[in-house]
Amino acid sequence: MDTSPAALTELSLSAAPRTAWIFGAGASRCAPYNVPTQFSLMARFSTQPVAGATPALRQHFRDVRGRLPGWIAQVQPGRVWTDWQVSLEEVFSHYELVATQPRLHTPTQVAEARQALDDLTFALRAATAVFGGNNALKFRPFERPAGTAAPYAELVEHLLTDAGAHPPRNYAAGRHTFVTMNYDILLDRCLLHLDSRGLGVGLDYGFPLDNGRARRGADMAADGDAHFTLLRVHGSLNWARCLNCGAVFSTWAKHAQTGPGEVCAVCEAESLASIMVHPSYTRVYDDPVIARVWAGTRRALAGADRWVIIGYSLPAADVHFRALLREARARRRAQGLATEVVLVGRRPAPEENQAAPDEFERAVSEYRALFADDLRVWDATPRGFGDFVRALRP
Ligand SMILES: [Zn+2]
Repeated sequence: MDTSPAALTELSLSAAPRTAWIFGAGASRCAPYNVPTQFSLMARFSTQPVAGATPALRQHFRDVRGRLPGWIAQVQPGRVWTDWQVSLEEVFSHYELVATQPRLHTPTQVAEARQALDDLTFALRAATAVFGGNNALKFRPFERPAGTAAPYAELVEHLLTDAGAHPPRNYAAGRHTFVTMNYDILLDRCLLHLDSRGLGVGLDYGFPLDNGRARRGADMAADGDAHFTLLRVHGSLNWARCLNCGAVFSTWAKHAQTGPGEVCAVCEAESLASIMVHPSYTRVYDDPVIARVWAGTRRALAGADRWVIIGYSLPAADVHFRALLREARARRRAQGLATEVVLVGRRPAPEENQAAPDEFERAVSEYRALFADDLRVWDATPRGFGDFVRALRP
């Protein structure tokens, strides 16, 4: 007998004093953003245009595309490298095990594994990159023609006009925290636009950046009276670290470039590296920036009455994040605090071909296992997040 409560058809923002918004790949796949989920990352990389890239970068694309089929075939020889069923966790884990167990492998195997990890990471960055200029309407809250779909921008609009508080920016920024599992900078661009419009809402990643120490021309998001905190638990396409002096930068609305010729804005060494945690069964979260973000996420969740989780299937491979959710909920319960967990998913339309209709039900079951009676499920539609954001009420 199904005793679960009826699915939500709308959500009142003011009903929860503090809300944490957690985004998975399903949020960024929504139109008009269309960032591929894990199932189509390699297919995207195999065909994505590289227009505008330097000749060296275009050559690197060709080289990596030439090597990737072989790297994936070594791990899953029964699959084509662009097949949606290729497990990136499995592939990354395999090469990490080789690279970190030099006693069990030859130096050549270890060097190959490092090359494979470099190539896979490059493909991941390229395939999740956001297309369209920073000024595209999809990144501009309050500036789009009425009705234009842009779920991230629409969400920001809802939060800032929430309950008509005065001044709305201070009120909203104090009540809402964002957490994202994704590398893309869709939400970042929306928030940065608020600042450029003079709304005085800054963006805080939950750790200090070294942009202010730059010797020349590092663009910065101006500090506002208020800021939204965006906690990026797997790193970001707009973060870079200098391996020479340790400085950590954000390139804000642009993707960070870390290849040859890119120099640190503080010490000018040519040794920038990205900050990203890739999919894997053997993920490690010991990067100091990532560790700080995780501590901030734990605090944010423990302090939020409502967690709205959008487009995230709670995969078993994310054992660390599942543990964090479990611990934060347990901490709240120990303090006698209730937590409302709202799952926002996408239910494929019947005519969608490859859609496994029970995928959403499987996610609901996973969530129910972890959150029991705290779970509330939004009545999912084929457009998912794109429709949910329009079901928000003051
Ligand atoms: Zn440096």
